This record gives sequence, structure tokens and C-alpha cells, in this order.
Amino acid sequence: MDRFDTRVATPLFERMTVIGIGLIGSSILHAVRKRGLAKYIVASDHSEDVCKRAREIGFADEVTSNVIAAVKNSDLVILCIPVGEYGNIGPQIIPHLRSGAVLSDVGSVKGCIFTALAPVMRSDIHLIPAHPVAGTEHSGPDAGFATLFVNRWCILTPQESADPEAVSKLNSLWQEMGANTETMSAEHHDLVLAITSHVPHLIAYNIVGTAADLEEVTRSEVIKFSAGGFRDFTRIAASDPTMWRDVFLNNKTAVLEMLGRFTEDLTALQRMIRRGDGDGLFALFTRTRAIRRSIIELGQETAAPDFGRQRAAEKE
Ligand code: NAP
Repeated sequence: MDRFDTRVATPLFERMTVIGIGLIGSSILHAVRKRGLAKYIVASDHSEDVCKRAREIGFADEVTSNVIAAVKNSDLVILCIPVGEYGNIGPQIIPHLRSGAVLSDVGSVKGCIFTALAPVMRSDIHLIPAHPVAGTEHSGPDAGFATLFVNRWCILTPQESADPEAVSKLNSLWQEMGANTETMSAEHHDLVLAITSHVPHLIAYNIVGTAADLEEVTRSEVIKFSAGGFRDFTRIAASDPTMWRDVFLNNKTAVLEMLGRFTEDLTALQRMIRRGDGDGLFALFTRTRAIRRSIIELGQETAAPDFGRQRAAEKE
């Protein structure tokens, strides 16, 4: 039994609200309940069906589709909804937040929260965005599990003017859920994640789309021989369409910049193949292999050749 199986001595928050009971929201709810990180836990989703399912799972003291009732008197509110929804939810909840409350999120893009909430933001609320760099290709209230964040990174992106005590409390919450935490500016986060997450997803969506449209290769052949590398792309390309549409619409600049770099490097690779530059190809593939080794050494992936499927299965 490790420390993530035991309850903390004192809850960090009195009343905490999670809005959006999907993969990330339900994983937070499981982890917070299991570790006793909040005295009273409220979960809210705009779908009545999702709320009903959340009540059956039983990871919150209260589940409601009434988002105003959900946030009232909470000292922590975490948005676990697609980033494109921030402009809608902000005006609904911000007038009803308790003075001094921490408002956070888990969105995969960080700069956009400040822009989306700016017109309705209050000076007595601590807005401290966060992004757990952890996930699976599954969605919905049944997809979550308490150990999703264990040994994963969570990046906090407070503004320089943020209250250090509020930042520290949110930081502790993520650490108690098992995450390693790091703080950086929202702008830098969006640049880093563009190359480590957003562009790879775009490439996966693209290659799976291209394979599906090929005329010379049948769809059944694509599926049958998928173990040759394609299968790993299909896992990523099965990720939630709403979430990823919003990621690309809200991190345009950084994604387009990284795509530009990627396209230049791809052209160089094409040239190597055309010219028969085996040494060039070998040198690049050797360099990239070393990067994978460093990721495994840092405990962010296993050496098993299943690209993280095992981790998703571990929750069963
Ligand atoms: P998810 O499984 O699809 O869950 C999101 C839930 O929020 C759904 O039940 C959705 O309902 C609900 N919702 C949407 N808009 C809402 C609103 N305005 N009010 C109340 N509920 C609302 O999504 P997720 O994967 O947990 O992602 C949530 C956030 O986490 C996103 O911002 C994403 O960028 C971030 N994130 C995701 C991952 C990942 O791997 N999935 C990793 C890190 C961070 P409907 O489906 O009916 O719209």
C-alpha cells in the first residue's frame, strides 16, 4: 500500500466543486474522495444522464446539473469541460462564487482561460489554471480512475500577480492526487504542449484519415495489418472530437508555428529518402530512439511495446 491509498490527516478544501464529469472530472472526484482531500464534494454536469450515472458511481456528496447551486459556497471550483465552453460557463458561475474561492481548470490549452473569463472575472477570486498531463482516449463518467494522475505531471499556470497561498494550496491538491507539479506561464505551456501533445494528435488524426481514404489499400487491410505502427496512431486518433477541436481552435498560434517546423523537417526527410541518404536517416532515427529511452527512464512510459494501453487497463 502506498501513500496514495491512504486518507490525508486534514482535508485541503472545505467544499469543492467539479464541473464536467468526464474522464478528468471523474478521475479528480475518485482521487479526492479516496484521499479525503475535500470535506464536501460537489459534482456538476449539464447532462442529466451523466449526473444520474455520477450518483450511481457515488464519488460525490452532491451531484447536480444546476451549476449555480453547485458552485455556491465552494472554496475550490475546477472546470473539467472542453476549453471552448469557458466563455459560456464563466458568466454563469463567476457572479455566484464565494469571495476568496480558488477557480481552476484542467484544460489542455492555458492562455485561453484568461481571455475567455476576462470580461466577467472578479478581483476577489483566485484564478489558477492547471493542466494535468495525463489522460486516455476514453471519455465520460465511467472513464475516470483515482490513479490517473499518479507520477504524471500537472502544470500550473498562475499569473505573476496570483496569491502565493492559493497557488500553494492548489499545488498541494495535485501532489496529493499523485502528480508531480511544475509552474510556468500560460504562453510557455501552450508552446510546449503544441509540440508534445497537440501536433502529435493532429498527425494521428491526419494519418488515420489518410489511411481511411486510400483507394489502393482496402479498409480491411488497414485494420488487419495495423500492428505495423498504424495501430498506435489509431489510439490517439480515437480521442474526443469536441475536446480536440477546441484545443486546435484555442492554441492556433503555437500549433501553427510548430506545424511549420514539422513540415520543414518532413521535407528534409523526403529529400533524404529521394536521394538515398541512408546515413542521414540512420542518424535521425538514432537520435529519436534516445528520446524515447529518456521518457522511459523518467517513468513517463513503460518499455513494453503497447504504447500505454496497459496503464488504461490498470484501472480495471
Ligand atoms: P469528457 O470526458 O468529454 O468530459 C467532459 C464532460 O463535461 C462531459 O460530460 C460534457 O458533457 C461536460 N460538459 C461540457 N460542457 C459543459 C458545460 N458547459 N457545463 C457542464 N458540463 C459540461 O472530457 P475530458 O477528457 O474529461 O476533458 C475535459 C477537459 O480536460 C478538457 O478541457 C480537456 O482539454 C482536458 N484534458 C483532457 C485530457 C484527456 O486526455 N482527455 C487530458 C488532460 C486535460 P457533453 O459530453 O454532454 O458535452
